[in-house]
Amino acid sequence: MNVPLVDLVSQYQELKEDLDSAVLEVLSSGRYTPANEVHSLEQEIAAMCSVEYGIACNSGTDALKIGLQAMDIGPGDEVITTPFTFVATIEAIIQNGAKPVFVDIDPQSFNMNPYLLEAAITDKTRAIIPIHIFGQIAEMEKIMAIANSHNILVLEDAAQAIGSTRNGLSSGAWGIAATLSFFPTKNLGAAGDAGMVITNDKQVFEKCMSLRVHGMAKTPYLYEDIGHTSRMDEVQGAILRVKLRKLRTWNDKRRQHAAIYDAILDDSDAQKPYVDAETSYHPYHQYTIRHPKRDDLMAHLKDKGVGCAIYYPVPLHTQPPYAYLGYNEGDFEETESACEEVLSLPIQAHLTSEQVEYAAKCVAEF
Ligand SMILES: *Cc1c(COP(=O)(O)O)cnc(C)c1O
Repeated sequence: MNVPLVDLVSQYQELKEDLDSAVLEVLSSGRYTPANEVHSLEQEIAAMCSVEYGIACNSGTDALKIGLQAMDIGPGDEVITTPFTFVATIEAIIQNGAKPVFVDIDPQSFNMNPYLLEAAITDKTRAIIPIHIFGQIAEMEKIMAIANSHNILVLEDAAQAIGSTRNGLSSGAWGIAATLSFFPTKNLGAAGDAGMVITNDKQVFEKCMSLRVHGMAKTPYLYEDIGHTSRMDEVQGAILRVKLRKLRTWNDKRRQHAAIYDAILDDSDAQKPYVDAETSYHPYHQYTIRHPKRDDLMAHLKDKGVGCAIYYPVPLHTQPPYAYLGYNEGDFEETESACEEVLSLPIQAHLTSEQVEYAAKCVAEF
């Protein structure tokens, strides 16, 4: 049996008629930059995440860059995050002229360990970026309490966590702003790059709207900031709106797949994903196990036709471009050991239960 890690064609096939007509409608409308579709998507996503505003842009990476800039993060500022994330999180900090400061992760959830935060705060700390890794919301009550007591802003990197809730509150509704990614393989994926900043803060909203179009003021060709060109294409807006109607069903399906894995892996050497007691709804962007013989397991799964991947194989603090930050191997033990042991298994909605059972049994028998 073949169990692909990613299969975007079957997702397209399910919605082919609606997607085709949505795209053709945009093509024949002649409106290719943000218009009805993008504006409606911004409202629909904001409403789903229980926030006021959405600012659609070109990618999740751009959303991070623009969001941080709108929060006035720049040279001389420090931004705390973890070294166990996609590189975009720290690119955005650095490209705004600020300095990433790392804290280690919790070995069970892989999210930021809030007990390490206080020690990382200096008088230069202006923001914290928790990543809701693999879809599960970080320990936001603790993180917000610490941030608020030090007057530090929180931007949630919710790229992997659309649709996720913790103690009933949506991802993206905790900090001053949050960013989403609609990269094709995310739970809600465009047909190319797309992303969004979401926020309750009117000032951040207005700044982001201006920054995504070169920092243009309300008057055309007058500029109030050095900005970006980062509009979301109307075609992507139309595609995302069609898929958004299916997001909950697809996320539910991922959860059913996770339950199959959980049951079959119960007595195996694989450590199942830890779900925090405060997590209300985990959309399983990834189903990530830990295994002491991860590389051998990976080879075994490959032999059996089961797709899998390592997110992430090398921590950010030991990657060559970031050596100048001054960190060394050994600085973040939990991140480093996670990088050696994690393995993400196929979990996308369009797999059958039989495929997931087969994949789980291949892991269990190893
Ligand atoms: C995917 C991702 C991003 C970047 O999103 P893009 O749309 O690919 O630019 C940022 N942070 C995290 C944690 C991600 O998983």
